[in-house]
Amino acid sequence: MARYTGPVCRQCRRAGQKLFIKGERCLTPKCAIERRRSTPGEQPTRRRRLSEWGTQLREKQKARQMYGVLEKQFRKHYDEAKRRTGLTGENLLQILESRLDNTVYRLGFADSRAQARQLVRHGHISVDGRKTNIPSYLVQPGQVLAWTERGQRSEYYSIVTQEIQKRTPASWVTLDPSAMQGKVVGLPERSEIDSRIDERLIVEFYSR
Ligand code: SF4
Repeated sequence: MARYTGPVCRQCRRAGQKLFIKGERCLTPKCAIERRRSTPGEQPTRRRRLSEWGTQLREKQKARQMYGVLEKQFRKHYDEAKRRTGLTGENLLQILESRLDNTVYRLGFADSRAQARQLVRHGHISVDGRKTNIPSYLVQPGQVLAWTERGQRSEYYSIVTQEIQKRTPASWVTLDPSAMQGKVVGLPERSEIDSRIDERLIVEFYSR
């Protein structure tokens, strides 16, 4: 399953803002945005004005990079969002949020979406008691996410069981820290989703 393997912080510098791709590091002074705000490859003081298309493209790339999704998969999510009733942009964000890797991250089982994706890929997470190793799997309200036996045997599991108390799960999931289980109580409303994405620009980009 393909994933982006290039320099991650460069994506934030290109977007001109923190995309919180690296977890804990993003909150420290080591964050590349804290140290160097300039766009990669440009003079520190220069930031080119973007065309309308460029702005739309940049917003789409930003959302894609935040959720760690490649173009082909992102387009599939967009097509699914268009098929559903309601506003396409909001549907798209809801689909991105309900990806299994993102839900694992939102529960606090992982420090970043990239780490959550790895947990899923390595078969550490189950959905309703069945091991599910597809990061793009879309969770449904009522489903229970837990750790598989393999996951519970991992070194990381003992670390996360201690740290989970400090993490705050998203409003659309509930967490039982003692059982290390989470439940999807409903799909997220727009107001519950990270508002730093302007989904209308993404819809405009694909509607050209
Ligand atoms: Fe982006 Fe995090 Fe890197 Fe900072 S540390 S530039 S927020 S990925």
